[in-house]
Amino acid sequence: MKLKLTCKEAGRLISEGLDRKLSLPQRTALRLHLAICDACTRIHLQFRFLRRAASRYPGPEREGGES
Ligand SMILES: [Zn+2]
Repeated sequence: MKLKLTCKEAGRLISEGLDRKLSLPQRTALRLHLAICDACTRIHLQFRFLRRAASRYPGPEREGGES
């Protein structure tokens, strides 16, 4: 795998990384991209934030509310 990612590829790795562990070369390439790309860094942080928020409030399994 090449080490220079486009923003599109980086974005894909970021979202893939939420669901499963990336391989070492993937993580390395992503990290290199994040080091030089502010836009993807922001996306990355946002995804991680959303991910954490989502895991804090798991599932739609709440009583009652059927809207
Ligand atoms: Zn980028």
